[in-house]
Amino acid sequence: MNILLTGGAGYIGSHTVIALSEAGHTPVIYDNFCNSNKSVVERLEKIIGKPVAMVEGDIRDTPLLTKTLQNHEINAVIHFAGLKAVGESSIIPLEYYSSNVYGTLCLLEAMNQARVKNLVFSSSATVYGDPQYLPLDEQHPLSATNPYGRTKLHIEEILKDLKASDSEWNVLCLRYFNPVGAHVSGLIGEDPNGVPNNLLPFIAQVAAGKLAKLKIFGNDYSTPDGTGVRDYIHVMDLAEGHLAALSYLEGLSDWTAINLGTGQGYSVLEMIKAYEMASRIEIPFEFTLRRPGDIAACYASVEKAKSDLGWVAKRGLEDICVSSYKWQTYRSSIA
Ligand code: NAD
Ligand code: UDP
Repeated sequence: MNILLTGGAGYIGSHTVIALSEAGHTPVIYDNFCNSNKSVVERLEKIIGKPVAMVEGDIRDTPLLTKTLQNHEINAVIHFAGLKAVGESSIIPLEYYSSNVYGTLCLLEAMNQARVKNLVFSSSATVYGDPQYLPLDEQHPLSATNPYGRTKLHIEEILKDLKASDSEWNVLCLRYFNPVGAHVSGLIGEDPNGVPNNLLPFIAQVAAGKLAKLKIFGNDYSTPDGTGVRDYIHVMDLAEGHLAALSYLEGLSDWTAINLGTGQGYSVLEMIKAYEMASRIEIPFEFTLRRPGDIAACYASVEKAKSDLGWVAKRGLEDICVSSYKWQTYRSSIA
């Protein structure tokens, strides 16, 4: 199939390009590069060994999107594009609503015009808000504590209304837990601007000597060692989850949301230890106050992914940390 990946040059999108290509699909990247670098396309071509189609554009440009869908004879869209920094979303909420919500409306309009009605959407575990129980299954009540999370909730609702209005649409929302790690080549990976907000990229930069010390946000949570627990999923497992999603999409009778996680939670201290083992570098850290808005623990129920998609995450913490460090080393060498 010919698959359009909005935001395909970004962290998850670029890894999905590899998984799609290896499975015999033809990926087409559509990205405005507001949070990625054009050089990722060359690196993807090096990994895949063939050219990767790329269109530079904003998802709010409906005419260009429509033309792209038609020119590349697209069969399905995976919609990764959007802004994703939780903290920033409270500072510039309108940009988040514009890029994420309005951008999705423009994409849907273009898809309608081009008669492409198969869509996989990048949602997030953030739509569950503060967990009322664990593991989080897809029936857990939804809520959001910041504008970023609200954009994901709004988009899920829009897609639900769309499916109810027109059964020809096949719509699947994938709720990602914490994507981490990198492709085994070490040529692509997560490349945050400025000081990373997320744990793994921060640890990676401490290991590379770019940052001096990790600050652990709180050691008084009701978790086994007092530090926050999350469900860290290898980005290549996540990418392969999209392959399973595309097969599942055709003829989907209802709007559907499925968790993509591992079902296993790890604490901050466990992640540091795993990274130290993988990189053979000590990660200095200190405990500081809790980060406002943080939750103690969050991990997925993976039953629906298993039963409906036939997909489970295969890679463990060692793969995550080794690939992350390999990418960080390469990234530092080209900086
Ligand atoms: P990313 O920022 O690396 O990739 C997003 C890509 O979209 C970037 O290449 C960016 O340039 C592009 N983009 C942004 N706005 C655009 C626009 N208006 N038009 C065209 N392109 C645009 O992010 P990611 O980590 O790869 O995340 C992909 C998706 O998954 C996002 O929707 C994100 O909200 C969601 N998600 C990510 C995580 C995570 O921790 N990384 C967790 C849950 C959900
Ligand atoms: N964390 C931390 N120091 C950091 C970044 C994150 O202690 O510099 C903790 C954070 O409090 C949480 C876990 O690491 O318990 C994962 O945080 P991340 O931001 O990666 O994911 P999220 O909280 O958005 O799920």
